Amino acid sequence: NARGFCGPQQPLLPDPQKIVATWEAISLGRQPVPEYFNFAHDVLDMWSQLEKAGHRPQIPAFWWVNGKGTEVKWNFEELGEQSRKAANVLQGMCGLQPGDRMMLVLPRLPEWWLVSVACIRTGAVMIPGVSQLTEKDLKYRLQASRAKSIITTDSLAPRVDAINADCPFLQSKLLVSDSSRPGWMNFRKLLREASTEHNCVRTKSQDPLAIYFTSGTTGAPKMVEHSQASYGLGFVASGRRWVDLTKSDIFWNTSDTGWVKAAWTLFSAWPNGSCIFVHELPRVDAKIILNTLSRYPITTLCCVPTIFRLLVQEDLTRYQFQSLRHCLTGGEALNPDVREKWKSHVGLELHEGYGQSETVLICANPKGMKIKSGSMGKASPPYDVQIVDDEGNILPPGQEGNLAVRVRPTRPFCFFSCYLNNPEKTEASERGDFYITGDRAHKDKDGYFWFSGRNDDVINSSSYRIGPVEVENALAEHPAVLEAAVVSSPDPIRGEVVKAFIVLSPSYSSQDPEKLTQELQEHVKRVTAPYKYPRKVAFVSELPKTVSGKIQRNKLRIQEWGEMRGNPRKA
Ligand code: ATP
Ligand code: MG
Repeated sequence: NARGFCGPQQPLLPDPQKIVATWEAISLGRQPVPEYFNFAHDVLDMWSQLEKAGHRPQIPAFWWVNGKGTEVKWNFEELGEQSRKAANVLQGMCGLQPGDRMMLVLPRLPEWWLVSVACIRTGAVMIPGVSQLTEKDLKYRLQASRAKSIITTDSLAPRVDAINADCPFLQSKLLVSDSSRPGWMNFRKLLREASTEHNCVRTKSQDPLAIYFTSGTTGAPKMVEHSQASYGLGFVASGRRWVDLTKSDIFWNTSDTGWVKAAWTLFSAWPNGSCIFVHELPRVDAKIILNTLSRYPITTLCCVPTIFRLLVQEDLTRYQFQSLRHCLTGGEALNPDVREKWKSHVGLELHEGYGQSETVLICANPKGMKIKSGSMGKASPPYDVQIVDDEGNILPPGQEGNLAVRVRPTRPFCFFSCYLNNPEKTEASERGDFYITGDRAHKDKDGYFWFSGRNDDVINSSSYRIGPVEVENALAEHPAVLEAAVVSSPDPIRGEVVKAFIVLSPSYSSQDPEKLTQELQEHVKRVTAPYKYPRKVAFVSELPKTVSGKIQRNKLRIQEWGEMRGNPRKA
């Protein structure tokens, strides 16, 4: 035999392409979701084996930098080992059982990714939160979720201690720190000492994986629960098609760990065998981002539009991005003007996507699809996305209505299970066969979706319905405008009118405001339907934003109308 004598055979490993294709088919709804599924066991440990067998280029699975010279790099095997140790800490030291809940409030530190995976290994439900949470926020979240454990850093620990007595369910506290604190266990120390042997629990696909608190713009934050399969399998296809990820890619998403986008990245990158790149990014700084893109072989970048608005203000000709080949954005509407600038300076498209904490990706501009500037792209499978009226009837192309996802007769597997402890809200989010996102949009005849605004942000002026985004986009085209937010403002004759809050580009800041107001009004009348022009204009130094960088139009509206009228659902 020309091949010679073969020794004992290694167990056959599936071909990575085939296995990713199977996950992708499930993710698209073309194959049934298995009864049992655990992301750590079924996906990460599988990649660990594939990597060992040489089926993956020599790049890390996780690559963390802090800009001060410290780097952490793990391949899938090391990630597996570290996360098994972390799972032993959660199970052994914190006593977490499957179904128990754990709050993760960490800045962009490697521990966030480790503990997320460790939760999955132990069957604990992770509840990520942003580091800006106050004592009141923490108390509300810990009480509502009955979380048994929390992991955080020195900066937040005092806030947890201050409300600890009011949270009887909280049994263990882990500190990510190089020092110690009474009442807290030191996670890093425990991790060093923990065993690398851990038996991953067998989770059912429907078992809970994560709980997210919505940002609570319109009342108390709601708890959105996702299952093991919803997140663990729900992003494989969009990771392939929208994020265009392969096992050779290095994907950087600048999102805070407290927002769903950090989880979206985790669950889209790792099934596709890609590397997750993280910069600690203590503050959002355009120059740090651009230097990082020049310095590291990052192939894929995702930032919220606010960050791209900052980046295009810089002199981009001074930077060379060695490996960048695909860019994404989402979380709020992307101004076409910013997309154009990015494209002309960097030579790459910005692929916008749209989704919510309640869902996976709803609409997107996947790689290869023609982009229509200003549109969020087409429905992302397996979702059936429609524009419906308030009764849940599908509206024809061109008509504005509620952006909705079909949940009957079959609720997509990649969807939130419910708003926890809130059956009324869960029920109120559905009309007929559809889940109502709370956003307004229209669909064109080619199936592209065009976002007009959140339901509450749409302006009714003299019986015209005006979406703020279109007016903001028109304003953004003017060189004087750095950023704009458009809301309704009271008017004795028209009831309400369009008001624009504008942050000026530095070179325009000393111009006569009255002349500039007129010029901007004329500009909007020229580039969009004239009735939409802002009758009121205010120049401001900054816009109110969430920690994730989204413009808070509701705050501006309250400023205009007062608390009751500014928040329509309270009125
Ligand atoms: P809350 O529900 O408590 O107000 P939130 O809706 O801000 O919180 P998320 O679920 O993180 O929290 O955000 C989803 C919302 O973000 C969408 O419903 C939509 O309003 C907005 N959004 C996301 N992507 C886009 C996009 N590409 N274009 C326009 N808006 C977007
Ligand atoms: Mg929402």
